[in-house]
Amino acid sequence: MHKIIQNLINIQKEIRSNLDNSKLVKVPKIIAVSKTFTIDKINPLIEYGHLDFGENKVQEALDKWTNIKLVNRNINLHLIGSLQTNKVKFAVKLFDYIHSVDSEKLAKKIFDEQEKQNKKIKIFIQVNIGNENQKSGVSKLSLPSLYSYCKSLNLNVIGLMCIPPLDKSANIYFKEMNKLNKDLGLSELSMGMSSDYLDATLNSATYLRIGSNIFGKRS
Ligand SMILES: *Cc1c(COP(=O)(O)O)cnc(C)c1O
Repeated sequence: MHKIIQNLINIQKEIRSNLDNSKLVKVPKIIAVSKTFTIDKINPLIEYGHLDFGENKVQEALDKWTNIKLVNRNINLHLIGSLQTNKVKFAVKLFDYIHSVDSEKLAKKIFDEQEKQNKKIKIFIQVNIGNENQKSGVSKLSLPSLYSYCKSLNLNVIGLMCIPPLDKSANIYFKEMNKLNKDLGLSELSMGMSSDYLDATLNSATYLRIGSNIFGKRS
């Protein structure tokens, strides 16, 4: 079997055996983060039947995925990187999920494009959970008002997303995210990468975004 498929299967097994079986938890979905990898590296996973893929740049995703999506209509493409408002029209056209909504300006632009294209995207609000200057995401303080704004536009917000600080244990941030998500009554939670997906799983993540542990190191 192809190495990349084997990697995915191993991660799925590991996650299942680490789920807390005493609780009724959803088995999280794995978004295979294919950024920087060419289509020939991604194809084996598509042929295997994997459905969720993530990219962080709109232009790269357009180049790689436009044709594949035409022939594989059940693939879910996730935009996990930050989105500039001038790229929103392309993002709404190509992607099924956007994980990086973090401002009213961006939310409004997505709303406008959805109206034009008659399409509805599933949306995560990105939270800057470690309050880091250099990171995108809405602050915890501004989250309730951004959420209300999105609801007023009738955007399909399904959950929260975060990238925790690198230097510390992710667990405390994941716990906090889980609580914020529950307080808003949201059902999906996008968190956990190659280094911390088991911690994320134990804190009720429903979408794990895993790149290098599936595809190998990025150059
Ligand atoms: C690249 C990326 C990932 C995947 O990272 P790995 O460490 O390779 O698993 C997850 N989330 C976001 C937002 C990313 O940009």
